[in-house]
Amino acid sequence: MAILPIVTYDDPVLTTKAEPVTENSEELQQLIRDMFETMYNAEGVGLAAPQIGRSIRLFVMDADPFTDDDEKQGNYGPKTIINPEITWQSNDITEHEEGCLSLPEVRENIKRPEKITLTFLDENFEENKLTVDRMLARVIQHELDHLDGILFIDHLGSFRKRLLKSKLRQIAEGKIQASYPLRTPASTSS
Ligand SMILES: [Zn+2]
Repeated sequence: MAILPIVTYDDPVLTTKAEPVTENSEELQQLIRDMFETMYNAEGVGLAAPQIGRSIRLFVMDADPFTDDDEKQGNYGPKTIINPEITWQSNDITEHEEGCLSLPEVRENIKRPEKITLTFLDENFEENKLTVDRMLARVIQHELDHLDGILFIDHLGSFRKRLLKSKLRQIAEGKIQASYPLRTPASTSS
């Protein structure tokens, strides 16, 4: 297994729509294992393939840190999500703070539908359907956005986004450190 460097804002891979995964392979299985190791090392609850520089529709997640006693429904814990599609979303919207491993030190309140239904392939390439709410729904929507080239800050209004401008520039220039390995646009272009 390997810990992979995490791509940061504003690498173009983060704003590119990712391609569907077409087949299972040993290489894919290795990538999934590496992504879990990378996510746990960074103490993240989700990691999408574009965040390690691969533009394919795959993410891993483990929302267990958000579990409280009355929320143990079996849906928390490690999950591999391939080619996901949201087939239904609630009209109810909730707001909660989010962060992103590709945007160290940035945390913002983001509004999202509270409940969603998702179809996807699991790590065995078997079709699955899930209806989830609260933090689980939030993590899935955040990670699925990555596959469409959307960052959580893209959900902010222009005023909030403007306030983040200098922080974002620092991240893009590789001036922000994290406790996990980063691959900043500055470090790859030199
Ligand atoms: Zn993210």
